[in-house]
Amino acid sequence: MLGFSGCGLDFISIRDSFRVQSLGMSFRLFNTLSRSVEPFVPLTPHHVGMYCCGPTVHNFAHIGNFRTFIFADLLRRYLTFRGFEVQHVMNITDVEDKIIKAVRLTGRTLADFTGEYERAFLEDFDALHCLRPHKLPRATEFVGDIVALIERLIERGIAYQAPDRSVYFSIDKYRGCGCRYGQLANLNFEEMRVGERVSSDEYAKESVADFALWKARVADDGDVFWPSPWGDGRPGWHIECSAMSMKILGSSFDLHLGGEDLIFPHHEDEIAQSEGASLQQPGQRFVKHWVHGAHLLVEGQKMAKSLGNYFTLRDLLTKGFSGREIRYLLISAHYRASFNFTFEGLHGARTALGHIDELNLKLTELAAGLTASPTPELPAHFTEAMDDDLNVSKAWGAVFNWVHEQNRKLAAETLTPIEAASALAAWNHVDQVFGLGHPPASEEAPAEVTALLEERQLARQSKNFARSDTIRGELKSKGWAIEDTPKGPRLKKI
Ligand code: AMP
Ligand code: ZN
Repeated sequence: MLGFSGCGLDFISIRDSFRVQSLGMSFRLFNTLSRSVEPFVPLTPHHVGMYCCGPTVHNFAHIGNFRTFIFADLLRRYLTFRGFEVQHVMNITDVEDKIIKAVRLTGRTLADFTGEYERAFLEDFDALHCLRPHKLPRATEFVGDIVALIERLIERGIAYQAPDRSVYFSIDKYRGCGCRYGQLANLNFEEMRVGERVSSDEYAKESVADFALWKARVADDGDVFWPSPWGDGRPGWHIECSAMSMKILGSSFDLHLGGEDLIFPHHEDEIAQSEGASLQQPGQRFVKHWVHGAHLLVEGQKMAKSLGNYFTLRDLLTKGFSGREIRYLLISAHYRASFNFTFEGLHGARTALGHIDELNLKLTELAAGLTASPTPELPAHFTEAMDDDLNVSKAWGAVFNWVHEQNRKLAAETLTPIEAASALAAWNHVDQVFGLGHPPASEEAPAEVTALLEERQLARQSKNFARSDTIRGELKSKGWAIEDTPKGPRLKKI
C-alpha cells in the first residue's frame, strides 16, 4: 500500500466561503467532477490558476477548436471582471502521434513544421480577440519535467516499463491504492473489461487500459526522440499536460478547461498521473474545478473534411467575415450546449453586431467627447446572468433590452450628452468580457462617392425624390449605404 494522499476530499474552508459572500453574489460554475454547478472558490483568495489544453499544432485550427478557446477567453475575462487575478496557461502540443506522422510524411523537421502552425494559430487567436495566455508552454521544452514526473510514478510503483520498452501507467496499481480512476468520465469498472495496454494517445472508454507515459523510439519516429532513463523515446500526450500545468501553476490549481472530447481519456489520465504522483497537500486535489465546453457542429453535423463542412478560421475570413463577427457568433450560446454553426447564423451575427455598433456610434456622436461613469443597470443585469454559470443567453437578453431602450430614448431625443456618455461607458464595461471591441474605423469614402452624396442632398432639397432614390441605388452598387441621422446623412461601407 503506497498510502498517498492525492485522492483526498475537496472542501470549502470558512475563509473561502466568506470570500464567496464578500465578492457579492457568488460566481457559480459547473464542475464536471461533481456534475453540478458550484460556487467558484479559488484555492488562494483573489487568485486563479487556469489551465486550458491548447492546440495540437499539426494543421490550421478549425472553428470548433476556436469555440473552445474563445470560451476559455470568455471565462478568463469574466473572472478578471469579477475581481480575480487570473494566471492563464495554455500549452502548445508540439509533439504527439499526429504530429510525428505529419513530420514523417512531409520530411520537415519537427520545429519547422510545428512552428508554422503555431504562428498561424496565434494569428487566428488574435483575430478572434482572444487575450494571449500569460504562459504558452510547448511540450518539447518540458521534456525534463516530464521525465522527472514519470520517474516519480515509477518510484511509487504505479508506472512500469513494458517489454516494448515504453513506460505505462498502471491502472490496477493506482486503483489498488484507493484512488478512483474514471471519476471525471464516470466509468463503471464493474461493467467493463479492462484491456492490457494501449500505446496510442487517444482511445475509447470501452478500451480503458494502461496508457503510455513514455513511448520508446521506433523507426517511424525518425529524428523525433529524447534520451531518458528508459532509452530514447518521446512523451505521451497526457503526461505533457500534467507536467506543464503542475510546473507552472503548482501541483494543485483552480481551473482546468478543454473541449468535452478531452474528458476521456486525456483529462482522466491527467488526474491519474498528477494525483498518482501525490505532490498535492493533504486534502487537496490536482484540479479543483474541471470545466468542459460542448462541441460545435456545422449545419447539424460533426465537422469532417469529407462532408465539406470543415472550416478553419481562415476559410471564414476569406469568405469576408470578420474575427469579431465569428467571435460574436461563438459566444452567443451557452458553453455547455452544443452549438450548430450555420452561415445563416453568421449573417445573423453580423446584423446583431451591426445594431450594437450603430447604437454606439450614435451614442458617441451625442456624447461628443464627454466621459462619464457607467450606468449601473446593464452591468448589474449582465453580472447576475454571467454569475449563473456564464449564462450568456440571459446576458445577451439584457444587452438587447438595453439597446432597445437606448434607441427608444435617442428616437425620442430624451437622452442628454452626459447620459449618452454613461450608456457608452456601460457597454464598454461589459464588453471587457465579450471582447468585441469597436469596428475598425470606417473607410474614407472616395471623392466620387461624397460627390454623389452632395448631389443627393441637393435633389432632396429640391424635392426631386426620384433622383435622390436613384443616387441611393448608385451608391449601393458602389458599396456604400446612406444613413439619415439627426446630424445629416452619413455614408457607411456595406
Ligand atoms: P486539438 O488541437 O485537437 O487538441 O483540440 C484543441 C481543442 O479544441 C481541445 O480543447 C478540443 O476539445 C477542442 N475541440 C476539438 N474539436 C472541437 C469541436 N468540434 N467543437 C469544440 N471544441 C473542439
Ligand atoms: Zn491537455
